[in-house]
Amino acid sequence: MAVGIVYDPMYLQHQTGSHVESPERLVATMDLIKSENMLESPDFKLIAPRPATIEEIKMIHHADMIEYARAKSLQATGRSLEYLDGGDTVVCGKSFDVALLAAGGAMAAADAVLSGEVSSAFALVRPPGHHANASRSSGFCIFNNMAILVEYLLKKKGLKKVAIFDIDLHHGNGTSELFYGRNDVLFFSSHQDPRTQYPGTGFPSEIGEGPGKGYNMNAPLAPGAGDDVVQLIFSQVIKPVFEQYEPDIILCSFGGDAHYSDPLSGLSFTTQGYGHYVEGFKRIADKCCGGKMVLLLEGGYRVKILAQSIVNILNVLAGKKMPFVEAEHESGESILEYHGNLAKKLQEHLKPFWKF
Ligand SMILES: [Zn+2]
Repeated sequence: MAVGIVYDPMYLQHQTGSHVESPERLVATMDLIKSENMLESPDFKLIAPRPATIEEIKMIHHADMIEYARAKSLQATGRSLEYLDGGDTVVCGKSFDVALLAAGGAMAAADAVLSGEVSSAFALVRPPGHHANASRSSGFCIFNNMAILVEYLLKKKGLKKVAIFDIDLHHGNGTSELFYGRNDVLFFSSHQDPRTQYPGTGFPSEIGEGPGKGYNMNAPLAPGAGDDVVQLIFSQVIKPVFEQYEPDIILCSFGGDAHYSDPLSGLSFTTQGYGHYVEGFKRIADKCCGGKMVLLLEGGYRVKILAQSIVNILNVLAGKKMPFVEAEHESGESILEYHGNLAKKLQEHLKPFWKF
């Protein structure tokens, strides 16, 4: 069965001026997908998004926050841009409609997977979503596409439990906060140590609250951490928990900004490292839920590298070889030792809830 790629040129109409979260990110990605002849291959299938309805957005966001985003977007005319927060989250006149199409793209991807049209799907959407919470757009994100998708799956599609892994450079704080007290959503985020990176949350001690205790996991990675660190945390902490949870579907917030060359990054992932990271979760999905996975684009600002990382992941999902392989980056003894201790610390926090 083919792997779905959700895309629409409308995603380019969210204009952001000189901001790093630019339409060029998707132009480069689609150019590479085309030059790799992936859209002609039976292994991949292009899926059209649909706009989310306001009712669907309201499953997560407050009505006044939605209206604020709409009003600000309408205020931005021509080349003038408006901001939804302190200066990070830019909108143009079309941004509100594009944001609806981004959230709808996530749901279209899931529909294609659940109907059996594709085995898994990657929604190449923008604006991203994982920093937005119920009442506030922030960190380049207007609506939380992932959170809306989760509620859609649980409330409208009859799924009982979903697992999310967020592998953006930044903690998926919006998504984390929205499901912090819930056990029908397992959330894991790996990100650069919040003491050195936006948004300043995502510590190992953050494990959820109330019925959600034990269902929220954070691996803050020290600057310099590369693919070998990821594999260590994955095998010692994440894989056992995800396998015990047995989700009905595995969802991914993918950000290419943890690549060593990304302008925002202090981490050292490679393009093939991303592929291997996703491959680990794919094996769990194959075991637990018939391989059902939906990936959503979040960050990633070195456009050529973002495109290569996405193409590698798409090939992994299709069970094919990754076309882009860089020189291996080894994290070094002291970084590996630090993260060995981090894995132990995470196990300590999570031990009351999971077997290691
Ligand atoms: Zn990011």
